[in-house]
Amino acid sequence: MFDLNSELENKRRAGLFRKRLINNSAQGVRPTIDGRQVLSFCSNDYLGLANHPDIKRAFIQAVESYGVGSGSAHLINGHSQLHHDCEQHLAEFTGRDQALLFSTGYMANLAITSALLGRHDFAYQDKLNHASLIDAAKICGARLVRYRHNDTEQLAALLQENQSESRKLVMTDGVFSMDGDCADLTEISRISARHQSWCMVDDAHGFGVLGKTGAGLLEQLELSQQQVPILMATLGKAVGTAGAFVAGSDDLIETLIQQARPYIYTTASPPAIAAATMCSLAIIEQEAWRREKLQELITYFRERMAGIDVELMPSNTAIQPIVTGDNNRTLELSNKLMREGIHVGAIRPPTVPVGSARLRVTLSAAHEKSDIDQLVNLLARFYPDQQ
Ligand SMILES: *Cc1c(COP(=O)(O)O)cnc(C)c1O
Repeated sequence: MFDLNSELENKRRAGLFRKRLINNSAQGVRPTIDGRQVLSFCSNDYLGLANHPDIKRAFIQAVESYGVGSGSAHLINGHSQLHHDCEQHLAEFTGRDQALLFSTGYMANLAITSALLGRHDFAYQDKLNHASLIDAAKICGARLVRYRHNDTEQLAALLQENQSESRKLVMTDGVFSMDGDCADLTEISRISARHQSWCMVDDAHGFGVLGKTGAGLLEQLELSQQQVPILMATLGKAVGTAGAFVAGSDDLIETLIQQARPYIYTTASPPAIAAATMCSLAIIEQEAWRREKLQELITYFRERMAGIDVELMPSNTAIQPIVTGDNNRTLELSNKLMREGIHVGAIRPPTVPVGSARLRVTLSAAHEKSDIDQLVNLLARFYPDQQ
């Protein structure tokens, strides 16, 4: 038999063992974790919508009419009116022809590549892209070409030297999930067009948060469907519900419906999720104060951290990592914070490159400045002996 136990032991020794904490409450900045209330800085519920009363009510009302399970795949009889309406809402919100719902962001990314690329094609990806994009390139068998983080010159050079007739797709996180900085999408879309390549953005951490109405990084940068033909974003983060969508041209969406195996061969998500998502989208569009408050908190956090001389990354988003480099040191710091009632995730390889383990602080519109004070004061106390 395989010696799984010694492999697990090795992980433990390397500080790479992962442990699930049990949350016994709704999402919020003060969840009950392992039986104890903590102040949380690790959720992706950036706008504080995951436990919003109106969204919960929309969900419950939809369950009353539509039940819980969807019963089958979208192409059999699982595609409800609620899914259909939600897709239309997403298309209008993002200014794209059409949108298509998926049960998870992971699957949406697999669907894009498996419908568009084959063995002879090329996927160009930022080195720091989310694991689901990397896996998406692997599942379709395309050649995966990685460029240095946000290095658009290297991307242009790599595309330039590829003279084949094969299809090319440039894929990037919009907001990098573990670093918090944004892709230089204006330049990436320009380069892609110049080299007859498609361009796709995964806006999991920008959707809901960035842009005037919350439509994400593409709205903020004013990039059209023609400039960035493939938009994917998730609904389980700022939107506070679950699932994901792909938005783009009629032909793109029809191609996904016809060809994407991760779309075709899976049961549709519960219709009530779509109802909850529509309610959340309406709040996102109407309540700009959530984005404004989040931005204020981000600025406040960075100012306070500058005061204690702990280096942050160049991020203007809700993701504010503190890199320590060492796996065990990161884990120890996270444990020490937890003992004082503050929960910050310890992110280690392979989620981030070896040697760049970090505390991933995330902020939410549901935080108050006094919460940030608590975190910064503790870090000030712990940090010197960590260096
Ligand atoms: C979270 C995330 C995903 C996966 O989305 P799920 O809906 O959680 O499966 C994909 N891409 C990025 C950049 C993410 O952060």
